[in-house]
Amino acid sequence: MSKCYLCPQRCGADRTKRAGACGATDEIAIAKYYPHMYEEPILSGTRGSGTIFFTGCSLRCVFCQNYDLSRVKTGKKITPKELADIFKELEDMGVHNVNLVTPTHFVDRIAEAFEIYRPHIPVVYNTHSYEPIKTLEIIDKYVDIYLPDMKFYSPSLSERYTGKKDYFEVAKTAIEYMMDKKTFSLSPDGMMKSGVIVRHMIMPLGAADSRKILEWFASAKKNGAYISLMAQYTPFGEYERFPELKRRITAAEYDRVYEKLLSLGIERYFIQELKAASESFIPKWDF
Ligand code: SF4
Repeated sequence: MSKCYLCPQRCGADRTKRAGACGATDEIAIAKYYPHMYEEPILSGTRGSGTIFFTGCSLRCVFCQNYDLSRVKTGKKITPKELADIFKELEDMGVHNVNLVTPTHFVDRIAEAFEIYRPHIPVVYNTHSYEPIKTLEIIDKYVDIYLPDMKFYSPSLSERYTGKKDYFEVAKTAIEYMMDKKTFSLSPDGMMKSGVIVRHMIMPLGAADSRKILEWFASAKKNGAYISLMAQYTPFGEYERFPELKRRITAAEYDRVYEKLLSLGIERYFIQELKAASESFIPKWDF
């Protein structure tokens, strides 16, 4: 933490003294934890996914659906011991898994929490995927399920919305590592026990990019991985600066992407209904 290189930004911040480009110091910060009912059905089930939202972000999309969280406008600092207590508390609530949302910039502190308490339910690593293998190697032994985003294919699109041209190449390498590490399996009650679900949110004017991502996924060595197409884009964050981001996706854009998925013969997939595009699905922060 005296020189942080956990993400590809490699800003080298001394996080014991100040926040890095991700907005995080060496203290874990969270905005909420609760049983979340709106993850994929094999994760949320009937009792919810035990979701913990970490504040700060090393990717920072301009349209972030959790904007206040990624820009550290909310959050409470906790110790690894307190995080371990939250794992236990969620587990005692009866959730199906512990779900770490945007954990990349805290992986070493989260690993400390797992050394204090290992949950007896699956651990989900829910990420934007902009992270090097070295960072994933720190956390992999504690993780059962990877839930990585694949956000953009085109370097110009990722540069426009995140300032990072190399997003696809970094995320592709990270997700292929995840698919290599975890084989898909279900527990006897039909809930996900291990494996990978790659998420992709369809963007306004982004159908062509989505189709390229589907082509990559179809050709990757998947170990049983699913893809989850998300239709929940809602104008948020800095969308006023980007005319194309001021609307939700259209039925035609949704259909173009879905048709491509079917034409590629992808059978292991989830797809959100278009009506999922609503601010009511964005959590209210507790801290
Ligand atoms: S995780 Fe944060 S502090 Fe570390 S390199 Fe990335 S942006 Fe910098």
